Amino acid sequence: MEIPFIDLKSQYKRIEEKIKKNINNVFKHGKFILGPEVYELEERLAEYVGVKNCITCSSGTDALLLALMACGVQRGDMIFTTPFTFMSTAEVISLLGAIPVFVDIDPTTFNINPNELKKAIEAVDKRDPSIYPLPRILLYEEDNFTKKAIIAVDLFGLCADYNEINKIAEQMGIYVIEDGAQSFGGEYFGKKACSLAHIGCTSFFPAKPLGCYGDGGAIFVESDEVAELIRSLRVHGQGRNKYENLRIGINGRLDTIQAAVLLAKLEIFDDEIKKRQIVANRYTQKLKASPYVKTPYVPEQLLSAWAQYSIVVKDRDGLINFLKKGNIPTNIYYPRPIHLQKAFNYLGYKEGDMKISEDIAKNIVSLPMHPYLDEKTQEYIVDRVIEFYNQ
Ligand SMILES: *Cc1c(COP(=O)(O)O)cnc(C)c1O
Repeated sequence: MEIPFIDLKSQYKRIEEKIKKNINNVFKHGKFILGPEVYELEERLAEYVGVKNCITCSSGTDALLLALMACGVQRGDMIFTTPFTFMSTAEVISLLGAIPVFVDIDPTTFNINPNELKKAIEAVDKRDPSIYPLPRILLYEEDNFTKKAIIAVDLFGLCADYNEINKIAEQMGIYVIEDGAQSFGGEYFGKKACSLAHIGCTSFFPAKPLGCYGDGGAIFVESDEVAELIRSLRVHGQGRNKYENLRIGINGRLDTIQAAVLLAKLEIFDDEIKKRQIVANRYTQKLKASPYVKTPYVPEQLLSAWAQYSIVVKDRDGLINFLKKGNIPTNIYYPRPIHLQKAFNYLGYKEGDMKISEDIAKNIVSLPMHPYLDEKTQEYIVDRVIEFYNQ
């Protein structure tokens, strides 16, 4: 029997009645677009995160896109971000004609490294790629490029170093956007993930810590003014009514049915986050003695949402194949850093530009991780890992 990598079936069993009741209500009232569940969910999520406004939307990708649009990002703007992330983070920058400026990660947290960020900014200011690798467009074109924002990613559920990142951004007068697609439910110095920057974004893709049964996402922002702007952008830049359009926007709404699903899942979410801690701690306790496995590091005062439990290992391919034979699934997040993806060839980055990301990409692997992973199954997984290295 295959062990699930993420166990949505056990979760569904637990809340089946509530999910069915909530979805049935939507069928009954028929308000499939921006129905009452959407607004109720936004209120609950804002309260949960501790930010005044929550605007739900069609995906985590659209959350990031809307956040950049709300910051007024346009052609020629420079956005600093990490190359060790999912495609979306950098994709939305390019979609708006802005320029991703990649900044390497910290090898222990896998998140954007503030010291590298400072170097990248200096390199941009001096147009000097010997200080830090830069997108070639900055060197060969005479346009007026503007430093506009930083997108930090809370990879695998662990919040980035916002104390440092926000300080750097404040000095430069630019925005910080938190890509909390993997960290919803996590904490940073007593504050919840998605509340740590000017704008917080998350995803409700089924496999994320809080997932719906399709695509979904949300944006968190303290400012009422920005929230209103995002609400307008979410529906074709609409004004007071459907047929008044103030700006260019998108169709970026969350379906009412997905909101109904999320309302049911939110009730057990805190308990699930607690269970994730137990599962992650068990892995770490059992694996940390192995010299071939580097277990994840969680700094003091941080609580990971454990979207993934990722280890850095020796002979990764050998381990993956060995585990596969024992019906243990694994995943690699991410096999190729974004700056080396074909889609970003036009930026002119090359191998060796982001050494830590490239090195981690070669040696990282994620083990099954979800709140319903029982101790016996987990012991079996760990035993197989240890066994592989004892061969
Ligand atoms: C999943 C993810 C996204 C995109 O979310 P979707 O809902 O799939 O569009 C963005 N950033 C990160 C870091 C993610 O993991």
